[in-house]
Amino acid sequence: MPTNDKAQSSSLPNLLRWEKILHRLHVLEDTQEPTIQELELIRRLLGDQPILELVGAVCAYLPKADWVDSVGFFKTVHGKMTLLTCNCSPRMTDYLSTLTVFKNAAGSRRLAQVRLRANDSQRLKIGQEKTLLASTVGEYEDGQLVIWAVIIENPSQNQRHFIDAIIQILKTQLRSLAIRQELDRHKDRLQALTQHLSEGMVVLDRDLIIRLWNRPLQRLTGYAPAEALNRSYAEVLRRHDAAEWLEHLIAESRTSPLRNVFSAEFELLTKQNRPKWVNISGSFLRDKNNEIEQTIIITRDISHLKLLEQRKNEFISIATHELRTPITAIKGYLSLLNKEADQLTDKQRLYLSRTNEANNRLVHLAEDLLQVAQVEEDRIRLNFQPVELYPMLEKICRDWTAKASLKKLKLTVQKPEKDIFVIADREKVEQIFSNLVDNAIKYTNKGSITVTINERGDLSEMITTHVHDTGIGIPGKYNQEIFNKFRRTHRPEQSRESGAGLGLFIVKSLVNKHHGSIQVKSRPGRGSRISVSLPSSPARSSHD
Ligand code: ADP
Repeated sequence: MPTNDKAQSSSLPNLLRWEKILHRLHVLEDTQEPTIQELELIRRLLGDQPILELVGAVCAYLPKADWVDSVGFFKTVHGKMTLLTCNCSPRMTDYLSTLTVFKNAAGSRRLAQVRLRANDSQRLKIGQEKTLLASTVGEYEDGQLVIWAVIIENPSQNQRHFIDAIIQILKTQLRSLAIRQELDRHKDRLQALTQHLSEGMVVLDRDLIIRLWNRPLQRLTGYAPAEALNRSYAEVLRRHDAAEWLEHLIAESRTSPLRNVFSAEFELLTKQNRPKWVNISGSFLRDKNNEIEQTIIITRDISHLKLLEQRKNEFISIATHELRTPITAIKGYLSLLNKEADQLTDKQRLYLSRTNEANNRLVHLAEDLLQVAQVEEDRIRLNFQPVELYPMLEKICRDWTAKASLKKLKLTVQKPEKDIFVIADREKVEQIFSNLVDNAIKYTNKGSITVTINERGDLSEMITTHVHDTGIGIPGKYNQEIFNKFRRTHRPEQSRESGAGLGLFIVKSLVNKHHGSIQVKSRPGRGSRISVSLPSSPARSSHD
């Protein structure tokens, strides 16, 4: 039984300490060793027991000393005394409680000592004259706990010290009882509060064991608090694709600027093995050594949001498919018309070219929308192979040269000194860079666009390619936002350029699929540098 073990081990040093005190008391007086009863009394008082049992032990053991006549405890509430326990007759305690000296002594927090008058001793039938010791021990229930003892007439200093020591232990035990009750009350209040939250709340200790689990989590996961408490988080907050997901978040937190907060969205497996989408956010509480001592996690069921999103994606996907047929038909008829363009008037040719442009934009939008749906439904499959970067980038730039020269922009790719390969899906990686070069041309009015490959792979063996332009730039506050769906920066400088704000969302999703990363560095009015890092391919070494 762990609690008993704990109580014993924590009371053992104390017991030794008190044994030493007892020895000192006896040695000072140069009398015998501490008696078995004295040691037993101290042992019992140091145990982790209810206060009434401690009080009972004092009444049972203290009178065994031949200098002690009787011992008892009162509870006083607003001056009214109620006997709790004693080792003498109730008649005696009744009588004691009427004595003014006793009342005064009982009101004192210090150990008061009064000599009982001869006639009191006679009435109490305790033979000779005696000394009454009394003291308030501390708060108990709705009143005060008072100890009294009738002992020999002239107690020695050490006998008084012994009683004092008993009172000190009782005082400490009463205080720790009050603190424990206060803690329990706080715990109950916290429990009540968390039970009424609409979100699920979990508190984990430093070993990631569940210490608090509120009711909403039962609805979410199927596990009742009694089933979840004291278990490892991974057993009840189950993720089929990553069992130790929290350990991963903890590892990530070490390098993250926001070290103590985290959030994630994933599918959780319920007790009945049903997947459910959840959003979790939480925080790590660290001790003074910077170790995580508590983790607080708030979970929200977002299955309904995911369902809505899925329906919306389905709708976009169906609508886009339906749009493609008429758009393709228009494109077909336009190309027939383009062939007959020499028979048209100048005005008709102008109308035709505007219709071509508008239809191309529609084709582009439909393709982007279809790809967004594929990304969101995780339907993009990659065919990884070593891809040599320079020839691919050169081809992309060649394809865009016409558009760049319309704006008198210089478009170049710097040739690296050696052949550099990444491990990627050729078609998708072409799409990534084509999109970035297209944007660079769109958002640059004069100057140049330069594509460079960073030849030095960093420690993690990633190859970074920069698309650098001298265009309108991107204000810092949009650095992350531009990667969200339908997000454009809406500035007068870019008002002439059309777009739906889907390009960079698709680019980022494709980069993530390649286990790469994308970064923006920009100064508004001076230009931007978009950098994409992709895993380098071992094929590279054969060319080194
Ligand atoms: P779109 O170009 O269709 O608007 P994107 O997702 O490709 O959508 O880009 C999102 C937004 O990011 C753009 O609207 C633009 O405001 C900004 N942006 C992207 N690339 C650049 C760039 N090279 N220079 C300046 N702004 C850019």
